[in-house]
Amino acid sequence: MEKKITVLPGDGIGPEVVEATTNILDEVAEQFGHTFTYEYADIGGIALDREGVPLPDKTVETCRESDGVLLGAVGGPKWDENPGHLRPEAGLLGIRKQLELFANLRPVAGHESLNTSSSLKEEVINGVDLMIVRELTGGLYFGEPKERREEGGEEAVVDTLSYKRSEIERIVRRAFDLAKVRKKHVTSVDKANVLESSRLWREIADEVSEDYPDVTLEHMLVDNAAMQLIRDPKQFDVVVTENMFGDILSDEASVLTGSLGMLPSASIGSDSPGLYEPVHGSAPDIAGEGKANPLATIASAGMMLKYSFGMIAEATAIDEAIQQVLSNGFRTGDIAKPGEKILSTDEMTAEVVKALQTAAAKS
Ligand code: NAD
Repeated sequence: MEKKITVLPGDGIGPEVVEATTNILDEVAEQFGHTFTYEYADIGGIALDREGVPLPDKTVETCRESDGVLLGAVGGPKWDENPGHLRPEAGLLGIRKQLELFANLRPVAGHESLNTSSSLKEEVINGVDLMIVRELTGGLYFGEPKERREEGGEEAVVDTLSYKRSEIERIVRRAFDLAKVRKKHVTSVDKANVLESSRLWREIADEVSEDYPDVTLEHMLVDNAAMQLIRDPKQFDVVVTENMFGDILSDEASVLTGSLGMLPSASIGSDSPGLYEPVHGSAPDIAGEGKANPLATIASAGMMLKYSFGMIAEATAIDEAIQQVLSNGFRTGDIAKPGEKILSTDEMTAEVVKALQTAAAKS
């Protein structure tokens, strides 16, 4: 197959982890007889520096014309004082909105060999395998009005949590579709005891569940979900929730895997190309030093192969190569225990390439 991939390296460690990942994609392309071509474009701080906006129109065009988008990360102290619409993060929110990427999938699966790097007890996280499905283009982050204003002579502020029925239904349905091919359990997280938006969310989840008789639906209040995620994470299979709840819960879930440097994500819509990126940020503290863990971005590319290109064997090869390097004891600084040898980004990438080659030679 021939696939056109838009690459948005972004800021900080973004370019480093993205370069590592295109090396892995090249190896997969060679092994499986595919051609991947890369079109580079700017987003975030680098786009602000070069073009004065965090999301240039031509970046959006390039993304639209491709089969999948691979993103590094955006942001950094240089742009922290910019007004909201001129911050790097506005580029990220913008591309999600422009491509209507309403579903953010964040798989959280422990790697047995990393269980001791988590701050949680090994017996709690051993065997965790869950998927957070976060609504990404609606809710509190996008609702209008969103402004500072004056009320009764003093400063006031408003953010708005609004959803249309169709927006809730499509994300809940996506969660059920995923659960069907996993452990057939959906936990819908809301705050229905307080929020009207959550009460509609709950009603719709119940309606959608009728179309999936083999999938069990459970409702859980978000405060309880935050507690259950670290108390007993193995109870979860697919967790579906609105934008802000999902943002918070998915970062909380990252401790289950030991490091932010291990978590991939996919943002997908209905007709547009999917966007694949690590959950971590631009890590300005280690940028340019060759210390970044590339595995979350490499795993995100694996999700692109699976969800956008339908390349299941290729995606599995990437996942298995990551498991293999971890089982072999290779570590970047963020996942190394004291005294363990620390690999650079390039060295870790080379180990993943080697693991792919070894697996191919065996099959
Ligand atoms: P961060 O995820 O960038 O870093 C948090 C900590 O984790 C840092 O100590 C960092 O060194 C470490 N870390 C992160 N990724 C790593 C990796 N791959 N390998 C090794 N260590 C890694 O979060 P932050 O420090 O809160 O934010 C830094 C910047 O990133 C900010 O400007 C923020 O707005 C931005 N950010 C961007 C995204 C995104 O692009 N999706 C997400 C979160 C934060």
